[in-house]
Amino acid sequence: MVVELISVGTELLLGNIVNTNANFLSQKCAELGYSLYYQITVGDNDGRLREVLKSSMERSDIVILTGGLGPTQDDMTKETVAKVFGKELVMDEVSRERIEGYFKFRFKGNPLDDVVTQNNWKQALKIDGCMVLDNDNGTAPGYIVEENGKAAILLPGPPSEMIPMFEAHVIPYLQQKQNKVFISSMVKICGIGESKAETDIIDLIEKQTNPTIAPYAKSGEVHFRVTAAADNEEEGKKLIAPVVDELYQRFGNNIYSTEEGETLEAVVAKLLRQKNLTVATAESCTGGLLSGRLVNVPGVSGLFNEGFITYSNEAKMKYLGVKEETLRKYGAVSEQTAREMALGAAAASGASAAIAVTGIAGPEGGTQEKPVGLVYIGCLVGSEVTVREFRLKGNRQKIRELSVIYGLDLLRRGLLKL
Ligand code: ATP
Repeated sequence: MVVELISVGTELLLGNIVNTNANFLSQKCAELGYSLYYQITVGDNDGRLREVLKSSMERSDIVILTGGLGPTQDDMTKETVAKVFGKELVMDEVSRERIEGYFKFRFKGNPLDDVVTQNNWKQALKIDGCMVLDNDNGTAPGYIVEENGKAAILLPGPPSEMIPMFEAHVIPYLQQKQNKVFISSMVKICGIGESKAETDIIDLIEKQTNPTIAPYAKSGEVHFRVTAAADNEEEGKKLIAPVVDELYQRFGNNIYSTEEGETLEAVVAKLLRQKNLTVATAESCTGGLLSGRLVNVPGVSGLFNEGFITYSNEAKMKYLGVKEETLRKYGAVSEQTAREMALGAAAASGASAAIAVTGIAGPEGGTQEKPVGLVYIGCLVGSEVTVREFRLKGNRQKIRELSVIYGLDLLRRGLLKL
């Protein structure tokens, strides 16, 4: 089935806001197994919206529109869709009561006539014969209009209203429209670049039919979504299992997870727990970002007791016991310093593992010998310290972000060896 998106809003055309709704909806539609060939952005203009909607309805089975459902004069999506479908707008009593309830709650004690303006009631009008989708986070309901085997789905513009409505009402609707279920697995890889990863499985990508393999590049990581269309969940799982196995054959330990919501730090925490270890961090150029990623994991307090932000040489000596001679001879950004930082963090905190990061995030401070992007990551697991040198590309923020990812990955690899 083919779905199409129309984002309504002059603000989008002027570049005042980023179209995150289109980004979210495209991903969700792909996950649900819909083909999406067009995304259109149109201003708050009845004539132009009518024009694009007519052509979208001709070539696609379902058109999802976001924005323009509010109470003001320039919000005209519902009115325009009604015209294109040749339908009337009629009062929807349930929406009327919800709007009343919403304002009573927000402006407790004030008479309704003072707080609800006439145009608010416009939101209680529905397209005759449509399905009304409740909005628990605002006043504009959503709508699904069906005609001749085609459908238009109207959703509010604010993502805080659109996303919960889509998840609660539109996903079940779209699932039921497809007579197949879509089962997918997200194969997450760290330590291999996007083009290398894709080249390694290009034969699988080229001959894919069902399941499909779609690459997603993330900062410092590559994800492949393996999706199968099947008659039921069990059959879908059976179809994706051999493909995921094949990816394991090709990428081995570079795969850190195959679960959708599982992060790299969550995998590290799981391994620490399994091995009964604790970790400490020693951070220079990442300045706490690495510790922050670890603290993202609920329940990490039993595994991560202490993090040291040692930006200056003095701090590296004072808190981590890095030798003055090491700093003088090799510099703060060096393999030797990273090693002593990792050992020092473990000794000072009593942790059984440690990650240390020292590097030049730029934009200043680079030399020919030690350029911006040079980062040393030290990782202590058990009694062994591994130090790796990285030459990272990007601005200051990117270099710091990548250092954190590679630090977590180095620890993960060290833990897997135990
Ligand atoms: P409201 O009831 O708030 O008026 P609406 O359905 O009329 O909602 P719009 O008026 O078109 O929606 O947009 C309201 C706000 O929602 C915008 O100012 C913007 O912050 C956000 N928004 C709208 N469309 C998008 C989009 N495509 N992506 C991200 N944010 C959006």
